Amino acid sequence: MGFIVLLVIYVVLSVFTIKLSRSEEMFLFMGTPIPARSFAGAFSNVANLSLILLVVFYGKVGFAVAMMILAVQFPTLMIQIFLRRVYSSIPGLFSNVVAIVASLLVFFKNRSIEKYQEKIRTQAITDQLTGIPNRFALSELVDALIRQKGRFAVATINLNNFKNINNTMGARTGNEVLREIASRMQKASEEGHTGTEEYVVRQSGDEFTIIIRNYPNADEILRTVTYYKTVLERKMTIDGCDLFLTFSIGYAEYPTDARSVDELMAHANLAMLEARRSSDGTMICRYTPEMSDVERVLQMERKIRYALENDRFVFYLQPQYDVYHHLIGFEALARMMDENGSLIPPGDFIPVAEDTGLVDQIDTVVFRKSAVFFRELIRKTKTDITLSVNVSVKHLMKNDFLDEVREILDASQVPPGQIEIEITESVMIDSVEKALQCINELKKMGIKIAIDDFGTGYSSLSYLNTFPADVLKIDKTFIDQMNSSDSSRKYVASIISIGHIMNFKVISEGVEENDQLETLRSIGCDYIQGFIWGRPLCAEDAEKVVIEAVS
Ligand code: C2E
Ligand code: MG
Ligand code: MG
Repeated sequence: MGFIVLLVIYVVLSVFTIKLSRSEEMFLFMGTPIPARSFAGAFSNVANLSLILLVVFYGKVGFAVAMMILAVQFPTLMIQIFLRRVYSSIPGLFSNVVAIVASLLVFFKNRSIEKYQEKIRTQAITDQLTGIPNRFALSELVDALIRQKGRFAVATINLNNFKNINNTMGARTGNEVLREIASRMQKASEEGHTGTEEYVVRQSGDEFTIIIRNYPNADEILRTVTYYKTVLERKMTIDGCDLFLTFSIGYAEYPTDARSVDELMAHANLAMLEARRSSDGTMICRYTPEMSDVERVLQMERKIRYALENDRFVFYLQPQYDVYHHLIGFEALARMMDENGSLIPPGDFIPVAEDTGLVDQIDTVVFRKSAVFFRELIRKTKTDITLSVNVSVKHLMKNDFLDEVREILDASQVPPGQIEIEITESVMIDSVEKALQCINELKKMGIKIAIDDFGTGYSSLSYLNTFPADVLKIDKTFIDQMNSSDSSRKYVASIISIGHIMNFKVISEGVEENDQLETLRSIGCDYIQGFIWGRPLCAEDAEKVVIEAVS
């Protein structure tokens, strides 16, 4: 639009210039008669200025158009001056020459700025060490491909044990290795021996990426990736040393395996990590959704380890009451603090902690910290309430578990009679003998035993006979259903009756509603734990609850 406006201005002013230069009329300016012809030069100047503006704002095209016009204008003016003796054209000729020089200067200045900008852009998208495109170039290309809605794959290539090369041979050799990898990959992409089209990039460190396009079917991706692996794993001679390197490669395809750039890159990376772990030695993996699960677990494991090393496990205390709302104790529940201080609930980390063997340490931290706090609390308030701690099945089965409990009791000086250990039902089913031995030892120390989440396991009542527990904890799922059907209510009632027959106290977990409370009272339940009377609390708030209860 602006381009056209400038051209129109030029044409209109040029017509005026011609008209005025031929005019014999006189204008009166401040009482003095002036020939209209003398204004021609000024109009011509402004017309030429619009051509200079074309060059300034419209780069090459503006320059071409302006130069064409000025090149026609110049001889025309010369002819007028020298052949036709039209001397009024002389100012126009000057402004024409000035316009030509100015246009050339602006154009060449612009070109050098453009070249500089181009250089900066190339530098920004080029990896300085290897000279191949870097991750900025990669995300630009992947973005563009996604906009085109085509199919393509991203393969992440990682050099195994690069750290060792750097450590043993030095960073200079490490850099040489990276340059050689880049050069082999670049060559492979240019030679076109594969049935696909590839674009290679160095992501960071020892991580490279190939974007694979134009393939007839997905098998071709694997073939291309395998080709690159073969090329890269050929003997490499660096500084006179023969190196035989290996690479892990993971790839993901768009749109089958991901729907955005970030997802695609992350999935290719997950596949690469899986390839690195793979035991079959091929070290090439395509992304599968299960890998995301594996990654989630690994991330959680890292978080747990970090939290253990940095003392980020805390305990919350949930009050337990008898049915008349008298406080009888607290259950200590683990919470993990993440990097930004928010608390992660145990449902998110206990299963991973159990699988990775870290649960023992969590149990111990929670037990130790809550016991120290609890000792101080009962000393101050002189109450005989109980502290219940959860112990994982796997932890209980460890040989040193009993020593650990003794050590915590010694250190905290909590009377064992005020400690209860909650064990889930499955412990007894899985290994009755071992569990019984351990539980008998705990009982000898004076510790009480609760069977947690009762009813959710195999629900075999027969072993309860031989089991020296003190408390049966009915799981929340039964309490939830209790008032919706008569049979559920009867089921809970019968658990309570059997518990009583066996001399257990029965506590109902997850009580939230008043009518649940009423029913539980009516069928003889002993204790209540649930949001209705108390959520898990931080130590400070738990202390307030005790102080209120004793006052
Ligand atoms: P649990 O031992 O059965 O603990 C009771 C869980 O039910 C707690 O969840 C508690 O907050 C929740 N709860 C209690 N009353 C209500 C209620 O009225 N409504 C609802 N919706 N929930 C209620 P939390 O703290 O998330 O703990 C979950 C599980 O994690 C525990 O179940 C226990 O199995 C495990 N856990 C917690 N801390 C530890 C620990 O230190 N060691 C081990 N091994 N496991 C732990
Ligand atoms: Mg429990
Ligand atoms: Mg429970």
